[in-house]
Amino acid sequence: MLISLIVPCYNEEASLPILYDALCDVRKSDTSDRNYEFIFVNDGSRDKTADIIRDLAAGDKGVKYVFFSRNFGKEAAMYAGMQKAKGDYIAILDADMQDPPSLIPEMIQDLDSGEYDIVAARRVTRKGEPKIRSWFARRFYKLINRMCDVEIADGARDFRLMKREVVDSILSVTERQRFSKGIFAWVGFRTKWVEHENVERVAGETKWSFWKLFKYAIDGIVAFTIAPLRIATYMGLFFSFAGFVYLLYYFIKAIISKIWTQIAGYPSLLCFILFIGGLVLMCLGIIGEYIGRIYIEAKGRPIYIASEESKD
Ligand code: UDP
Ligand code: MG
Repeated sequence: MLISLIVPCYNEEASLPILYDALCDVRKSDTSDRNYEFIFVNDGSRDKTADIIRDLAAGDKGVKYVFFSRNFGKEAAMYAGMQKAKGDYIAILDADMQDPPSLIPEMIQDLDSGEYDIVAARRVTRKGEPKIRSWFARRFYKLINRMCDVEIADGARDFRLMKREVVDSILSVTERQRFSKGIFAWVGFRTKWVEHENVERVAGETKWSFWKLFKYAIDGIVAFTIAPLRIATYMGLFFSFAGFVYLLYYFIKAIISKIWTQIAGYPSLLCFILFIGGLVLMCLGIIGEYIGRIYIEAKGRPIYIASEESKD
């Protein structure tokens, strides 16, 4: 039996050696006949990550790697790792120790029990994270779960151990703009959640700025629901109905008062034009988000380009 541990790395020179030691501890602590492979995906790092991975691979047959020709993002890195993985059980974990490798033996046992196909980690606290960021994250999960059919768990990390079948089904989802949290939920299977406290990264710094996270949130929503497209329909219905009522009101008023000319309400007219104009633009923008995505998918470019790969 083979266990694959996939690690996406982007500028992780400081945390990689620490992580590698922790992975070796996991491997050493396993007294059964299970084998392990560590798959490092270097996502176009600008620091010494590539050299470190090459060194590790030279000294350890269990280390495999894929190097990207540039930074393609964590989603692409996870996909490449899963393609490369040969294991019966496959795990994905961050390079910065925020996904505690010490949880892995327990997760393996959970899969062995046969009751589950996936064991996924979820942090129950957001300790050490900026307050405003946590607040927005919570709002995002509320919103996306209300709009989508699949349940995306708040605090769910990408850290998970999966059976081969699960990974194969994730690989069969070949969309380019990958929102893994959604894809993981979408493929289904029996999932066990293990909860842990938030752990801060050991070294280096996060690659996620607030703006990047905001765009990620929009990507997630657009990738998993077309509910926003309906906003245009509903608002269109509402405003045409309101317009009709308004017309009726003035028509009846004119009949009753027998005054057929009205003094133009210039400010109210301006407000309406601005308001409706804004709404129309917003709806166009929403439609544009989807068309843009259709465009990118239609081009059918590969999810990543590898520049170097370890031999199997
Ligand atoms: N990562 C990556 N490509 C990127 C950004 C991040 O492969 O473009 C990796 C990174 O090396 C780490 C994991 O994804 O192993 C999570 O990144 P990070 O710790 O910056 O995110 P956070 O934990 O703050 O959400
Ligand atoms: Mg991290």
